Amino acid sequence: MAAGVRLTNAQAEDEMRAAGFEPIGSYQGVDRKWLVKCMTCKEELERTLSNVRAGKGCKHCKGLVVDAAAARAEMLAAGFEPLGEYPGPNASSSVTTWPPVIKVSLGMTSAPISDAC
Ligand SMILES: [Zn+2]
Repeated sequence: MAAGVRLTNAQAEDEMRAAGFEPIGSYQGVDRKWLVKCMTCKEELERTLSNVRAGKGCKHCKGLVVDAAAARAEMLAAGFEPLGEYPGPNASSSVTTWPPVIKVSLGMTSAPISDAC
């Protein structure tokens, strides 16, 4: 595609649908996060059109996002007691960004990645 040519919303939506995602939000630009729904697993997620063009599929389908019960079990297994509800896969893509948790073994509040380096 020639430089400077902008996709229309309809073109962008067609491209997103062709990749297997139903657009929910409005198209803002190829590198802007776009709320879409995976047609395979029906989960909502944010994708950029450039991600989709690069062949990046649905993180839910790939098993990169765990459900609340599995996320909690994973946190407990790592020694953390979640204080709040799992925010859901749309709030953050990883349990490492979960809000404050208690380190069960020490009874201290810390973030799971605070001492990673
Ligand atoms: Zn999916």
